Amino acid sequence: MTQLSQDCFVHGGELMRLEEGLDLIRSRLDVTCVIESVEVSEARGRILACDVKANGSVPPHTNSAVDGYAVYHSDLNSKGETELKVQGRVPAGHPFLGQAKRQMAFRVFTGAMIPEGEGDAGPDTVIMQEDCRRSGDRVWMPPGIPKGANVRPMGEDVLAGAVVLKAGRKITAIDQALITSVGVGEVSTFARLKVALFSSGDEVCEPGSNLGPGQIYDSNRIVLRGLLKALGCVVTDLGILPDKLEECRGAIAQAAQSHDLLISSGGVSVGEEDYIRAAIEEIGRIDLWRLAIKPGRPLALGTIDVPDRVVPYLGLPGNPAAVIVTFLQFGRELIMLLAGGKGPSPRLYPVVAGFSYQKKPHRREYLRCVLNHGDGGQLVAHKAGKQGAGILSAISCAEGLVELPEEMEYLVEGSVVQFMPFGEFR
Ligand code: AMP
Ligand code: MG
Repeated sequence: MTQLSQDCFVHGGELMRLEEGLDLIRSRLDVTCVIESVEVSEARGRILACDVKANGSVPPHTNSAVDGYAVYHSDLNSKGETELKVQGRVPAGHPFLGQAKRQMAFRVFTGAMIPEGEGDAGPDTVIMQEDCRRSGDRVWMPPGIPKGANVRPMGEDVLAGAVVLKAGRKITAIDQALITSVGVGEVSTFARLKVALFSSGDEVCEPGSNLGPGQIYDSNRIVLRGLLKALGCVVTDLGILPDKLEECRGAIAQAAQSHDLLISSGGVSVGEEDYIRAAIEEIGRIDLWRLAIKPGRPLALGTIDVPDRVVPYLGLPGNPAAVIVTFLQFGRELIMLLAGGKGPSPRLYPVVAGFSYQKKPHRREYLRCVLNHGDGGQLVAHKAGKQGAGILSAISCAEGLVELPEEMEYLVEGSVVQFMPFGEFR
């Protein structure tokens, strides 16, 4: 477990490219979660703290890939049919106990251990039952079956001792199967990151209540809660903090004691109505980052002092589409660094732009888009709706984000753009 430094987010305040911001947190943050052992059955979504090594080989024994007849390949005629006497019946899980003699065909079933043979040699080829003719205890097999056909050699999937998954991996259901197959029952994982989440602003109102004049529902907290949980965090919902300095400071200071990270949306900019910033400055420190992305600015990063450590704070913008985009592009990486995750970065896929677009230079833009198929079958991106930072409907029906680079000033319809499907943010 690492202790973060008080000034891990200190930054000069100038406009900063997204990559620069990500590099900065990569160089200054580290895992803050303790390591705990977890049963594999409970490990989905957990992040591995250590490599997983195979206790045994997979498959543990050489076995048949089909229902058929196991033979010595050298007993087969290369030109015509081969007739052999059938011996034994070897279902999966019930090995043939004798020694497999030459000039015999052993009735085997999928997953059955291939009988052991004479000396170093043994049956080495399985012929599918569909390719054979059988009568009584005789079987006729066609020529041309290659040596080793339909045999799964011991260890063909994994060899004992091999690393099957690396530290930093977020365990999927498929990984659980792999870990189980190599005979490992428990894995070392990082404890789930404990995140306290709140919203701020007197205009923001609890979902389900009646809106007063000038009020809006708190839609940010619910989407952030879902995104955080999808990343494997344990989320404490602190609700909506009012625009009152003392209440904000008290709630934040208390939450910091028992959490690994605090996240909020809204209420952090340079306006005099922004109480979160003032509250955190009293119990820690805060830096405003002007990330050169749209939608996005401003982003607040800080640390809160509690006994023995500092707790990081991430203040996202208030506008809903900006919250989601900054969380996916920046917050997700920050969380992965603290939680010990080392998965691949979200991947971009080239698609054709189905629209032209006038863009401000010096800022990377993320347009909320859907895909369809063009006449030639190529994927074409279209704007999912209005692109304002406060527009939720478009990002809701979007399938992902089209990323327009900082330098671009005008996007020409028909040109190739990079598309990041929402499915990439795991
Ligand atoms: P702020 O960052 O506080 O200046 O907020 C920017 C915009 O986001 C304002 O229109 C706020 O009303 C809106 N906003 C702030 N917090 C939320 C929230 N939790 N849910 C929905 N909209 C919000
Ligand atoms: Mg506000």
